[in-house]
Amino acid sequence: MARQAHTQPETLVDGDGSDMPVGRLLHPDKSPRVANRAVHAGAAETSSFDTVSHYFDVAADRLEMPDGLRSVVRTAEREVQVHIPIKLGTAGTHVFSGYRVQHNGTRGPYKGGIRYHERVNLDEVRALAALMSWKTAIVDVPFGGAKGGVNCPARDLDEAELESITRGFVDKISQVLGPARDIPAPDVNTNARVMAWLMDEYGKLHGDTPAVVTGKPISLGGSLGRESATGRGVVYVYREAARALGLHPDATRVAVQGFGNVGSWAARIITQFGCRLVAVSNSSGAIHSEAGIDPNYLLRHLADGGKLPDYPDAAGAEGVEAIAPSELIGLDCEVLIPAALGGTIHSANAGSVRARMIIEGANNPTTPTADQILNDSGVLVVPDVLANAGGVIVSYFEWAQNLQHFSWDEREVNDRLGARMRRAYRKVEERAHATQVSLRVAAYELAIEQIVEAGRLRGHRGYT
Ligand code: NAD
Repeated sequence: MARQAHTQPETLVDGDGSDMPVGRLLHPDKSPRVANRAVHAGAAETSSFDTVSHYFDVAADRLEMPDGLRSVVRTAEREVQVHIPIKLGTAGTHVFSGYRVQHNGTRGPYKGGIRYHERVNLDEVRALAALMSWKTAIVDVPFGGAKGGVNCPARDLDEAELESITRGFVDKISQVLGPARDIPAPDVNTNARVMAWLMDEYGKLHGDTPAVVTGKPISLGGSLGRESATGRGVVYVYREAARALGLHPDATRVAVQGFGNVGSWAARIITQFGCRLVAVSNSSGAIHSEAGIDPNYLLRHLADGGKLPDYPDAAGAEGVEAIAPSELIGLDCEVLIPAALGGTIHSANAGSVRARMIIEGANNPTTPTADQILNDSGVLVVPDVLANAGGVIVSYFEWAQNLQHFSWDEREVNDRLGARMRRAYRKVEERAHATQVSLRVAAYELAIEQIVEAGRLRGHRGYT
């Protein structure tokens, strides 16, 4: 996580195809007071929360939920916003915004990642928290849903600055965290190192508590298999969905958007199963090769400081060409795995999708209009709330191991993950077939039913 020297502003290709400069600090005050003035619609035609609310409403209509109950289940139970003032070298003091949204706790302690990205805002964190509530219910882990984030340009900050932001954030939200209250985990631009700082800062305030966070380093109580879990879960889902389409791995070409934790692990594991990785993108560009890209060589190139668009010149990259990142969505392939940010598949590019299947490694990558276009054209979409649940499943294993002061070997973690992903997929698929709806609608229906039942049994206000 060393500071990256950018000779020119790095560009992040938005879902609408426009290039947006990122990594700039812009105004020093990114506190909630300023950051909440406008809801950032992001790349897509709707805001993140509108997207999640739309999918919720489709399922709630089908379940004939009364309006009052619908409002209770849709609305976050607690939203915390804090100011985090940080000295950034010669750039002076900046005030960032930190958010923790606890969406629904009827099924257990809140659970959800923490994201560091300059575009983090309350609308997005709210949406991601709601997704966590549905996800934990669908894969039947005893948690509710939460999400957190800080609107800092993480890729332009050095390790000391990231540590300072993390400790400052935890100091302000520690009262709402805890192994029986709310358990954070890594997300975009956060990793095991960040989770170690988080655990340490919480420990200073409340006593050493490894179970307060998951995705920690193994030596501090992290679980074997956690780092690869979300990508591995994506591949388990591929195997289930491929069976339904009669798709064999050696006839499966895969394009992966985003090559961070989720995308790179999904790429490594899916190629081990015999699929061919034909395209990869990240925030600096995209590459394509009909003959196939070796994800391990590519990772080495990036770890050595290389940029993705330069990879075609690297050793072991014969036949690889650089392409425009916007081309990746419409490439000729069987499986498309969005594993970057939200809203990247939208009304303007959904019609160009040629893949037979989209497995949503990212959270909220598909807007409602795009989802409709994909359904109408027969593309099988495995929704985020099911497809990327591998991370929270192994987070549950990590939390359980911490509480028992015991650890499992990696084989056991992966086997248990596979069993849970298969069970969840089959449950959602069965519901979708029985009621003639998409996997997304079926998944939301199942999640809502479980949350409503838990709320009723607990006697929570608004559920009875
Ligand atoms: P990460 O920070 O490790 O990786 C993100 C990747 O996306 C990077 O390679 C980045 O360069 C790339 N990227 C950013 N914008 C892009 C764009 N416009 N086009 C192409 N690539 C772009 O993050 P991650 O943990 O892998 O998370 C990725 C997605 O998966 C997020 O939506 C996250 O919420 C979701 N997710 C993560 C986990 C987890 O366990 N890490 C679990 C569930 C869901």
